[in-house]
Amino acid sequence: MAQRNTVQQKIIAGQLAKLHGSHPTADEVYQSMKDEYPSISRATVYRNLNKMSDNGQALKVRVSSGADHFDDTLRPHYHVVCAKCDRVDDVEVDLPSNVTESLDKATAPGFTITGYELLFCGLCSACAQERQE
Ligand SMILES: [Zn+2]
Ligand SMILES: [Zn+2]
Repeated sequence: MAQRNTVQQKIIAGQLAKLHGSHPTADEVYQSMKDEYPSISRATVYRNLNKMSDNGQALKVRVSSGADHFDDTLRPHYHVVCAKCDRVDDVEVDLPSNVTESLDKATAPGFTITGYELLFCGLCSACAQERQE
């Protein structure tokens, strides 16, 4: 059983790498592989992606309006989410090191802070075009 889990996790990690840059949701990962791997269930894909994010093998991008997105790019970086279709993409931004240092030193009474998430919002080009038409 343990071995089967490892094999499945490898396949799912490989699939996430194949979708590199597209920040898929767990369901999108499942849809992209279900024909090739009919024995892997949707629940298994969800469980493994969440496990990978807990273990630091994938980034999870939480979007308030919908499902979590996953990313195999592990270096720290920021994301933008489309207000209309929930598409997630990378943001190029240069935060001065004194800003990130301040964020790292943030405190809140009654909390142990373990990290922070910075999410940009906007419209993707497809949705921006639709709005103009
Ligand atoms: Zn969009
Ligand atoms: Zn990313």
